[in-house]
Amino acid sequence: MGFLDKMKESVKDATGIGLNAQQQYERAYQKGVLLQPPKYQDAIKEFHSATEKFLKDGNKAMADRATANACLYQLVVNPDRESLAKAIQALEGIPEIERIGSQKDMMATPPLITELNAIGEELSARDADDGADKIAKFRKAGDTFMKLGSSPFQFVDKFSTEGPLDKAMNRSIYCMALADYHEGLCLVMESPTRAHDFMQKASIEFRQSMTNDWAEKTGAYVERIKSKRHCWMCSREMQGKDIFYKYYPAKSEKYHHQLVQDLKQDHGMIDSPNSVTLCTICGSSIENQADHYAVMRAQEVKDWVEPILAEYQKVLQNHHERLKDLEAVAHRHTS
Ligand SMILES: [Zn+2]
Repeated sequence: MGFLDKMKESVKDATGIGLNAQQQYERAYQKGVLLQPPKYQDAIKEFHSATEKFLKDGNKAMADRATANACLYQLVVNPDRESLAKAIQALEGIPEIERIGSQKDMMATPPLITELNAIGEELSARDADDGADKIAKFRKAGDTFMKLGSSPFQFVDKFSTEGPLDKAMNRSIYCMALADYHEGLCLVMESPTRAHDFMQKASIEFRQSMTNDWAEKTGAYVERIKSKRHCWMCSREMQGKDIFYKYYPAKSEKYHHQLVQDLKQDHGMIDSPNSVTLCTICGSSIENQADHYAVMRAQEVKDWVEPILAEYQKVLQNHHERLKDLEAVAHRHTS
């Protein structure tokens, strides 16, 4: 190779100018993906340049693959909804693509597209405000993750730090559990019994998917929602601690315990020291009435004390003015 040729080669290597499409594509790996640490932003630029060059050559298949790679690395750099949608669209046009971080290892695109779709569905579920919408979206995400079976994930951990990040099957069960959890929450004010069934199912699913923090949280909720007590005031049986009945401070003696026992009533009403269970209707009516009296009493005190304070204020002001006069006199005598 002559001197000029060597010069041309080194310019090509440093700038990428004069590279053909395939060389440009490979440059994305050498100058970006395969560096330690990788420079993905540089790789994305090189892949975009390769796309343009492949298109000029009329090689649409490789142009699409270069674009898909640019989109995938964009997703690595910036995992957001927009990058996700673009990557799905780009991948749909090609049958296989290099594995992230590798130039030789190929993977089929359909499972990757399925994973990215499932991630998108899960994100939509998390963003949804409406209960029914949230539940439907978590179920859909669960179904989509299920299609991946036991395949390992490529991208889930870039979007989420919670829930199972290793296997699609576990994440599918986890999404189903979240759907059941929200279904339970939506139903609780209508039917604690039905809500209990959904919460119990969610708790089991969280345990299956190895998300123990959620399993404990829902397990505790199940205990609360299944517990039943009678109301001391209206004698109705209510289901759901702190939902449909609560403990209120009250004084009870041995006599009351004996009385409840003799009458074969629910001893749970006074099973906690210095408290009694009231249903939320009886309890809230007492709270509201007490609040009403407290506001009335506060107003009475205010009406009583305000004129007295105003009188004190007048006296203080008077003293203040007399003190000022005295100071002025004293000042004249000493100067
Ligand atoms: Zn009651």
